[in-house]
Amino acid sequence: MATKPDRNLQVRCLNCLERFTVKKGAEKAACPKCEMEWRISWHDDGMAKIRGPVWSKTRK
Ligand SMILES: [Zn+2]
Repeated sequence: MATKPDRNLQVRCLNCLERFTVKKGAEKAACPKCEMEWRISWHDDGMAKIRGPVWSKTRK
């Protein structure tokens, strides 16, 4: 039996709509396609969701 893909770790980039996998427990993740950084939030069931863009990098 093949290992099932970790769908919970997949998010969709809000900038270019690319689907990519984030590290479990990560607070931020960068889209491999457009390199936009996103803040990740985690649901109780372990599902990752994009909260919004990471601004701190550009501000400081
Ligand atoms: Zn993207």
